[in-house]
Amino acid sequence: MHPLHYDAFVFDAHCDTIGYALPGHFHRDLREWGSSGHLDLPRLAAGGINCQVFACFPGEARVGAAPTSAALQRLEALYELLAQAPERVMLVHTAADLDRLGPGRPVGALLGLEGAEALDGTLALLHTFFRLGVRVLGLAWNPRNAACDGVDGSSDLGLTPYGRDLVQACNRLGVIVDVSHLNAAGVADVLAISSQPIMASHSNARALCDHRRNLTDAQIAAIAAHGGVIGATFVPMFLTDRPDEASIGHLLAHIAHMVDVAGIDHVGLGSDFDGWTLPDDLDSGEKYPRITDGLLAWGYSEDAIRKILGENFRRVFKQVLPPGN
Ligand SMILES: [Zn+2]
Repeated sequence: MHPLHYDAFVFDAHCDTIGYALPGHFHRDLREWGSSGHLDLPRLAAGGINCQVFACFPGEARVGAAPTSAALQRLEALYELLAQAPERVMLVHTAADLDRLGPGRPVGALLGLEGAEALDGTLALLHTFFRLGVRVLGLAWNPRNAACDGVDGSSDLGLTPYGRDLVQACNRLGVIVDVSHLNAAGVADVLAISSQPIMASHSNARALCDHRRNLTDAQIAAIAAHGGVIGATFVPMFLTDRPDEASIGHLLAHIAHMVDVAGIDHVGLGSDFDGWTLPDDLDSGEKYPRITDGLLAWGYSEDAIRKILGENFRRVFKQVLPPGN
């Protein structure tokens, strides 16, 4: 593994790992290197990941709870982890916090919601979740909610009036809007409304893999023109139409294509660790340095690799989050 990886600031824009910190059958102690799953504190460190967005998914049946409660239970599980391992992980609230992260420091944890369902149709709960540390709002998971339509079905409806209000409230508070899982009309509306850069935390290029969860070249270019970043993701069915054969080579091809379309300042990484079964060569946090090795083999400069690994996302989050001190 090339030493550049462990010298760079590495940012991963999406994982579902916190769901496994919940009590119950699938529980893992995230302080320990797990024998199953993709990510935990030891594997974040082994992979050289310096900042990780932990998505709180509000829609999963196994929690057996209403969406708001499901999201809160995930936040509570992460807060317990923060309390148990304060020397290894720190919560990121502000732009200033992002400058405290890097090699040799605790891993930064950013909190996100993956679906506006958790907000129960209110702006008040966006403020509450913000007070609890949430700094990323994924407007949609796949189905329709009070704010928008996800990529399920074939709706060409854009954001609802409530969804528009949410985007503006995120801009005011310092919450980054995430358009992965959102339908095309919704993405266009967010770009028209948002005064701040946005992200697609875990989506690939439809030009290489024609899946509804991936972005067209026009969308990739528009997110970049608006100052935002797209996180290339490891999910096999978003990498190739032959998911059984998916590998890191497909990921590198999506990164290269998106860099061609968006420019080097607008592409990052969003693994979706613990969200889906991943390719063998990308299915654990400690395999992250292979991406740096691959980018070097593909001829990227050290400066370009640092941008893809994390500096692009750090720039955008620093722009959007409250400044702090
Ligand atoms: Zn997702």
